[in-house]
Amino acid sequence: MPKTNTTKNRVALVTGGASGIGLATCEMLLAKGWKVAILDRDEKALKAVRAAHEQNKAVRIASLDVTDEKAVDRAVAETVEAFGGINGVVNSAGIAADKHVFDTPVDLFRKMLDVNVVGTFLVGRAVARIMMDTGGGAIVNIASISGLRGSKGRSAYGASKGAVVTLTQVMANDLAPFGIRVNAVAPGPVETPLVQAVHTDADRELYHRYIPMKRYGTPAELASVIHFLLDDTQSSYVTGEILAADGGYRGSGLVLDR
Ligand code: NAD
Repeated sequence: MPKTNTTKNRVALVTGGASGIGLATCEMLLAKGWKVAILDRDEKALKAVRAAHEQNKAVRIASLDVTDEKAVDRAVAETVEAFGGINGVVNSAGIAADKHVFDTPVDLFRKMLDVNVVGTFLVGRAVARIMMDTGGGAIVNIASISGLRGSKGRSAYGASKGAVVTLTQVMANDLAPFGIRVNAVAPGPVETPLVQAVHTDADRELYHRYIPMKRYGTPAELASVIHFLLDDTQSSYVTGEILAADGGYRGSGLVLDR
């Protein structure tokens, strides 16, 4: 049974690691003894993370745009050089927009695919090339419930996350022979800067109506699920899985008031 990240040298690379779900995941992994490369394109957010981890030798912080293939390959090589390998990846870098299909410019659609899908592919592929020679590992992509159901106003975002779901399943299939597991988490609404920028008060009321648990998730709740999928001591036989962490939204039918 492949158990590549059960050893002392557990190293994770987290994109979008300076904010929201990615940041909460970095904090949880560090608390559990992992070394973590925190990558993000937001310099301001990275500065705050740097200040919080100034003396921490288990942390490597660097600027990265996940859509830049050469920069991705470089960031992966630098992480391997610093920490001696990589056996966990979290693709949390992502952007979102809520727009009716008529109001969705093609540039926005292309940008959404570039960051959410191409970025996830580039990082996963670069790290898998390392993992295949070092005994395997686990990749966790962050999809969305909007990639599983047709949420209104999410033609670009939903299509990009639907593609992340399929990419996850295909990569799980391609990479299983190399001891690399690939899974995705499909969050419902989670209280992060991304959601705070996009959700109106009316949106929040609607979400509460349709989510059986009647609340948003927290970044820490998502980090737990991501950690489960990363950790070979817990999920060594799980691959190609899309795990919804959504307060019951995906599985729910009628939400009656009684
Ligand atoms: P967030 O905005 O707090 O964090 C996303 C991070 O990704 C930011 O720090 C941003 O700078 C970074 N990023 C964006 N584009 C990048 C790029 N090209 N290269 C590198 N970094 C980049 O958002 P979040 O809510 O934590 O979202 C994390 C992931 O979870 C995203 O993929 C998002 O689509 C997904 N998601 C979030 C929710 C939610 O409700 N918050 C729900 C479903 C899915």
